[in-house]
Amino acid sequence: MVDRSDEYVLTPEQTRMLREWDRRYVWHPFTQHALWNRCEPLVIVAGEREFLIDSEGRRYIDGVSSLWCNVLGHRHPRLDTAVREQLGRIAHSTLLGLTSPPAVRLARRLVELAPRGLEKVFFSDDGSTAVEVACKMAFAYWQHTGQTARTEFLSLREAYHGDTVGSVSVGGIDLFHKVFGPLLFACHHVASPNCYRCAVGRSAAECAMQCLDEVRRVLDERGERIAAVVVEPMVQCAGGILTAPTGYLAGLRRLCDAHGVLLIADEVATGFGRTGRMFACEHEDVSPDFLCLGKGLTGGYLPVAATLTTQRVYDAFLGAVDAGRTFYHGHTYTGNALGCAAAEATLDAIAEERVLEALPPKIEAMRDGLARIAGLDHVGDVRQCGLIAGIELVADTGTRQAFDYGMQVGAQVCARAWEKGVLIRPLADVVVLFPPLTIEMANLRRLMEVIEECLREVCGDLRDGVSDGYEG
Ligand code: PLP
Repeated sequence: MVDRSDEYVLTPEQTRMLREWDRRYVWHPFTQHALWNRCEPLVIVAGEREFLIDSEGRRYIDGVSSLWCNVLGHRHPRLDTAVREQLGRIAHSTLLGLTSPPAVRLARRLVELAPRGLEKVFFSDDGSTAVEVACKMAFAYWQHTGQTARTEFLSLREAYHGDTVGSVSVGGIDLFHKVFGPLLFACHHVASPNCYRCAVGRSAAECAMQCLDEVRRVLDERGERIAAVVVEPMVQCAGGILTAPTGYLAGLRRLCDAHGVLLIADEVATGFGRTGRMFACEHEDVSPDFLCLGKGLTGGYLPVAATLTTQRVYDAFLGAVDAGRTFYHGHTYTGNALGCAAAEATLDAIAEERVLEALPPKIEAMRDGLARIAGLDHVGDVRQCGLIAGIELVADTGTRQAFDYGMQVGAQVCARAWEKGVLIRPLADVVVLFPPLTIEMANLRRLMEVIEECLREVCGDLRDGVSDGYEG
C-alpha cells in the first residue's frame, strides 16, 4: 500500500508527456537505455521530510536519500529559508578574485569541524571534483617540494571516487571503469578490505588485516614514487557497502606516515553523520592530509563540494606569481553562494537539532531489521556502518556464488519495494539502504519491514523457479 498526497498531482496527460520527452531527450546517468526506454519511470514532483512524491500523488520513503545526499529530509524549513534569504541577496558571484560571506563562513565552520590539521578549504562542485582536486593538489605538492618522482597513486579495488578522469583513475570498479583504462593515470590498486569476499582468504577469526600487507608491499617497493593513498574511510560505498574491519583505516594512516605518503580521505558519501559520527575518520581518530566532502554538505540541496587540506600542503603552493606554484584549478560555480548558504544551514541544523545524538536508536533499529533479514534465503551478507546498510544477495549462500548479472536480482527487489512505497536503488545484487538521518523511527521500521517482505517474495520466487530475470 502506497500513501498518497494529492497536492502536487499532474494530469495523466502531463505525466505521459514528461515520460515521452524523457525517453526522447534525456540520457540518464548509470543507465542502460535499452532497458530504461521500455519502462515507465516515476516522475518525482515534490518531497517532504523523508518522502518523495510522484506525479500521481504517491508517497515513497526516500530509502537512499536521493543518492546518498539528502541528510535532513526534503524541504527542511531551515534550509529552505537559508536558500531563500540568500536568493534575496545574490545567487552566485565568483571566488576567482572575489570572496563572499557564505563561502568564507562555511570554510571556517568546516575547518572547525574537520579532523585536526585540516586548515584550508578549496571549493568545487561535486564529489568527483573534490577528489580530482585532492589528487591534483597531492601530485603538485610533490612537484613543488622537489620529490618529483612521486607521480603514482595507490587506491583500493572496488573503490569509487567519482566519474571525472582523475577520480576514475583512482577508482577500482571494473564494471564502471575498465573501458576508460587507456585514459587514466598510474594507480596501484590493492585488495579491498571486503571481509565477505576476503582477498587473502581469511575468515573473520583469522583476520589480522592481512589485506594491509599488499599496501605495505607496494609502499615498501615503490613508496618513494607514490604521491598519495586514496580511501573511502570505513565503508566503500559504491563498491557494495563494503565495511572495513576495525583498525584498517588507522593502519593505512600509519603506513602512509611510515613512507611519507599523503592520505586522501574521500568522505563524499560517509561525511555528515552517515556512519554515526560527523566524519567516518573520527571512528579511528585519523587525520588525513586531504578530506573530500560533497553530497550531504549542502544537506542534499545544491552541488557544492570541498577539499580540505593542511597548512603544509597549502604552503607548498606559495611563491611569486612566476614561480609556477599557483594551483591553476577552479570551477565557475566554486563557492556558490546558494549552495554555501544551504551548507551553513545544514551544519546549524545538525548541531541545533542534535541530529547525531538522535542516531543511536535508529542505528539499533536498522541493526534489528538486518538481523531478521540475515537469515533469509539468498541473503549472503548484511553490512552496516551507522545508518548505511548493504544486503548482499547471492545465488548460493554456501559457496557465496553471485547471481548472473543479467538476472538483476537486486533490481527485482527494488522494483517490489517501489510498489510498496519505498524507493531504493541497488548496487548490482547489493540492496542499499541509506535513508536521511532525520527519518522518523516509525518510517525507518517500515523501511526495514518492506525490504524484508520484498526479499522474502523475490527470493521465494527464485527458490520456486518462478523468476529468472528482470525486464526493466
Ligand atoms: N566519492 C564517493 C565516495 C562517492 O560515493 C561518490 C558518489 O557516489 C563520489 C565520490 C562522486 O560524487 P559525485 O557523484 O557528487 O561526483
